[in-house]
Formats: sequence, C-alpha cells, structure tokens
Amino acid sequence: MQYFPIFVDTTELNCLVVGAGEVAARKVELLLKTSATIMVVAPWACDTVNRLANEGKITLHTRGYEAGDLVAKQLVFVATDDSALNVTIHQQAKALNILVNVVDNTPLCQFITPSIVDRSPIIIAMSSGGVAPVLLRYLRQKLESVIPQKVSLLGQFSEKFRDAVKARFDSVTKRRYFWEDVLDGDVAEQVLQGNQSKAEQMMHEKLALDEHDSGKGEVYLVGAGPGDPDLLTFRALRLMQKADVVVYDRLVSKEILELVRRDAEKIYVGKARSLHTVPQDEINQLLADLALAGNRVVRLKGGDPFIFGRGGEEIETLVEKGVSFQVVPGITAASGAASYAGIPLTHRDHAKSVVFATGHLRDNSIDLNWPMLAQPEQTTVFYMGLTGLPVICEKLIEHGLPDTTKIALVQSATTPEQKVVTGNLRDIQQRVAEAGIKPPALIIVGSVVSLRDKLNWFKQNA
Ligand code: SAH
Repeated sequence: MQYFPIFVDTTELNCLVVGAGEVAARKVELLLKTSATIMVVAPWACDTVNRLANEGKITLHTRGYEAGDLVAKQLVFVATDDSALNVTIHQQAKALNILVNVVDNTPLCQFITPSIVDRSPIIIAMSSGGVAPVLLRYLRQKLESVIPQKVSLLGQFSEKFRDAVKARFDSVTKRRYFWEDVLDGDVAEQVLQGNQSKAEQMMHEKLALDEHDSGKGEVYLVGAGPGDPDLLTFRALRLMQKADVVVYDRLVSKEILELVRRDAEKIYVGKARSLHTVPQDEINQLLADLALAGNRVVRLKGGDPFIFGRGGEEIETLVEKGVSFQVVPGITAASGAASYAGIPLTHRDHAKSVVFATGHLRDNSIDLNWPMLAQPEQTTVFYMGLTGLPVICEKLIEHGLPDTTKIALVQSATTPEQKVVTGNLRDIQQRVAEAGIKPPALIIVGSVVSLRDKLNWFKQNA
C-alpha cells in the first residue's frame, strides 16, 4: 500500500488553494462539503470561485502566490498552469511539513484525493493510486448502485443512539450484537422507510428490555459449495460475516475462508480420507460447547451440509444440548462438478433419474445396492470414490452395465485446479492414472458424460 487511507477531521483544518480556474474550483467545492477553512490565492478567479468568495464561503486573495500564504496551513492544493510555480510551492510546503497536492501531477503529490461514495456519515473512499482510473470509476458506479442513498439515514440514526447504547452495554461484544440486531431487523426497516419517530420509539423500547438475545450462542451449519467462492449463497456470506468462531474442514477453500469476519477465531478440524484430524463426536461436542459459551459458531462444510456431510449428526448433538441452530444449504459437489464439466446430470435422451452414492471403501469393498446403481437411463454419481474406482467399475459391470458405459472423473470441480477425465468402465482406471487425478474427485457414470464434448464451457486458469 503506497497510499495510506485516513479520514482527516476538518473542524480546525486550514487549507490553501493556489489557482482559481475550473480545476481549482472543483477542489474548493469538494472542500466546502467539510468544515475546513479555505483560502484561495490567484491573480484571476473563475466565476464559481468569485461567487463563493462573494457568498463569504471562502477567502479569496486576487494576487500572485507568496511564500507567506503557507503560514498556519495544514493542507495545500495547487492548481495553476505555471509548472515552475507548482514545483516551488510543492518544495516550500514540503519543507514546512504541510501536506501538498499538485492537481494532476502525481509525483508532486504527498496525498491524493480518493474517489468518494458519500452517504454521510458513512463515507467510502477509494483509490487506485492513479494507475487504474477507469476500473476505479467502474467500481464506484457499482457501489453507488448497491448502497442505497438511505444508508445515510441509518448512519445518522446510529450516531443519535451511540451514547445511549454505550451506556446500556458495558462490553464491545454486547454492543456489537445489539447493533447487529438493530441493523438486521425492524428498527432499521423503519428508518429506511422514513418512519423516524417510530424507529426511535422502538429503539427506546429495545434499550429498556432486561433480556437481550445478545450473548446467546448459536450454530450455523453452512454449506460452502464446491470451491468457487462465487457459488456461496448470500445467506452463507451474511452468517460468515457475523461469526465469532468458524469451524471448518479440508474441503473449504482458502478464498472462501477469507470471506469470514476477520476477527473470528478459525478452528480447523480436518478430514482427509482415512486421516480424520478430529473424530466426529469431538466435533459435535466442540460445536455445542462453543455455542453454550455464548459464541456464534459457523460450521463451514464443503458442498451441502446434508449431502455426505454428516451435518445431521452434528445437529443431533445440538438438539440434545438445547443449542439453537440454522442450516444453510450449499451447492453440492455433484451440481458443481456437473455444471463446470458440461455434463448435465439428467437429460431427456440420456437419463431420467440421478443417484448420489458414496464410493467410500471399507475393507476393500463398497457396501451398496449395486443392482439399483447399475440401471440404464440413470446417472450415478459417486462421492469419495477415487480409491474405490476399480471396485466401482467392476461392480457396475458385474451387475449389468455394458463396459462401454461412459464415466467421468472431475477433480477439484469449479476451481482453477479442475481436471476432467472421461472414458468407459473398462479404460477409465488407466486414464485416471495417466492424468494423475487427485482428491477431491467426483465420479459421474452414465451416457450423459458423452454430452461434455459439446457442452464443455469452463476454462480454468491453470
Ligand atoms: N458435503 C459435500 C460432500 C462431502 S464428501 C458436498 O455436498 O459436496 C467429500 C467428497 O465430495 C469428496 O471425496 C469428493 O468426492 C466430493 N467433492 C467435494 N468437493 C469436490 C470438488 N470441488 N470437486 C470434486 N469432488 C468434490
């Protein structure tokens, strides 16, 4: 970060603007949104600057710049078309430790003015350090459209009750819970609808309550999807931003973990095949204990928590202990892999049903209803099946599928490491070995696999 973003209090700030053309006028107008005292020096001034001076909003000296103009100033903007003068003022200001900005001349700027989204008291300031102005403008437009103007009202409302809330709750955490509850609920809704007095009345009532939900722990069992952070649900993201603690597995990507509230404690409980870092019953107990201690716990799981995710077991323990919880579905690996590999799981000409099965090996065999899996016009998806691939192929053939049946393996679906290998039940093992497929990998069996030749769209970076 070459530029350090700060917000400067302008109540006692003295600014000098040298130059009074249109460019200088724009800086003056920006400064006038603040409480800074503004002095403008220039031999000649444009209409806007003259008008502002006549209205008494600024002090204008119609003369050339003098070194004495810098006395008692903290901030200087230079906007003249005399480049030698610009350099001189820059040097003189710098020598006096006064921050100086020569407009449109980055090397002569000790600070730069950011691009602003103004929802006072909420102000968003952005900068590209001058290297990507168009990208910056694009991002600003996006923010302007997603942050409603009325956020200002919420900001003003928060300011009004700030001291009362501080007096009511002695800890930062309790205050945070209280405010989150306010901003998530009816009070904020009333403010945004312009019902200020109703909102204030509700707020007073809320503050007077003896009991607050705050401090009561809860568990959110959240499906994080197959890997691509774009595939998270809005609800998953919202809860991740609220978490005090996050308990996550191996399948949750680094990019997704970065979206968790920065101050949240992050606990890894592992789970690679046959290398269970923390036994399941300990995880179940851990979730309950953390919530009972008053934490908002996000249990983040790859894919969907209720599809081969042992989510059911985890919440059974919570029910027993009386801990409240929510379950947030996620995009399961079968959906993610199918979409990103261009293999529809069902298709009128290929498959009228789809079955999700576990391919997990136990004592070198897989205990499944094989006649049901070896059906024509069906797509069968195996989770956790990479090691068991030889058994899967053998059993499907033994129970009636032709050895020419199409099969695909999708490694790290939806991520830049995605790899797809296709073949048939006879040759797939060799192809998988040649391609060096690694976990996590999903197996898709059925004639839908042939559609990939036409429908493959996802081009990963790798
Ligand atoms: N709850 C998860 C599944 C957990 S079981 C879900 O709904 O997706 C773990 C298995 O999921 C892995 O062995 C692998 O078969 C599959 N899997 C998970 N993420 C995957 C990914 N990005 N690409 C391919 N397979 C994946």
